[in-house]
Amino acid sequence: MQINVALAGNPNSGKTTMYNALTGSAQYVGNWPGVTVEKKEGNYKKDKNVKIIDLPGIYSLSPYTLEEVVSRNYLLNEKPDVILNMVDASNIERNLYLTTQMLELGIPVVIALNMMDVVRKRGDKIDVEKLKKELGCEIVEVSALRQEGITALMDKVVDSARSKKNPEVAFRFCEDVESAIDKISKTSSVSSEKNKRWTAIKIFERDEKLLETFEFKGNDRTEIESIIEEVEKSHDDDSESIITNERYEVITKAINSAVEKVKVKVSMSDKIDSIVTNRVLALPIFV
Ligand code: GDP
Ligand code: MG
Repeated sequence: MQINVALAGNPNSGKTTMYNALTGSAQYVGNWPGVTVEKKEGNYKKDKNVKIIDLPGIYSLSPYTLEEVVSRNYLLNEKPDVILNMVDASNIERNLYLTTQMLELGIPVVIALNMMDVVRKRGDKIDVEKLKKELGCEIVEVSALRQEGITALMDKVVDSARSKKNPEVAFRFCEDVESAIDKISKTSSVSSEKNKRWTAIKIFERDEKLLETFEFKGNDRTEIESIIEEVEKSHDDDSESIITNERYEVITKAINSAVEKVKVKVSMSDKIDSIVTNRVLALPIFV
């Protein structure tokens, strides 16, 4: 059975390094249909039944940039068997923002917690078990650059694809946002959708790409609009920003539980160094 693995993540998360480590030199390079965004696909060198599709680097699945639209269309329309989400562990807060969105697509997600060599060198600690519990998906620590952890990662990727288990989102937003999402999910326009939560959240955000083609039934559109406006009034914010804030709340909670950062200490010798450097730099002013 062929398995399609979508390699997705932020720019600079190490996607290309991972893609090269997985596929070696055998790769097909072209463009995504209709746009001049490079598309790469190749087979995993240890198992030719596993195809890796390299998606454009993105920070979000919102519909604003060409890269976001290409990645999002691929994930929604082509339905890969599993998403291999590259996360730069040394920049974990920012990287997990995209992860929270990908976990809502109804596709198994395996996180490659990359750049662990950098995290370890800094002396920071990430409790992977706790992070797995907060997010509700498989996580494997790797270093794409040093080619560490890659076999263990790919074992999990293949397992997740074969199990076909539809992932359950492990985190929830605040009560009134959840209640609005729930009400939207239960309208006849959304209730028959395959991926109700994703669709309801996108409608809540008034996502223009989804609204372009989505067909509302009866007066669902008006009713849903009043559900959204009520939450916007109580949060004093627009619905898209409300969801962004909620995602960061989820990430903050996960990080507080799973990540231990070394406090940056400024030693006396660093201070003296800096004073000396400043004096030396300042010298020409006095001569
Ligand atoms: P992309 O933009 O996601 O394709 O990221 P790249 O694969 O181009 O990687 C961005 C930079 O991070 C490059 O300089 C890589 O050499 C470096 N990099 C990738 N993976 C690792 C890693 O595990 N550890 C370290 N230290 N650097 C890495
Ligand atoms: Mg790249």
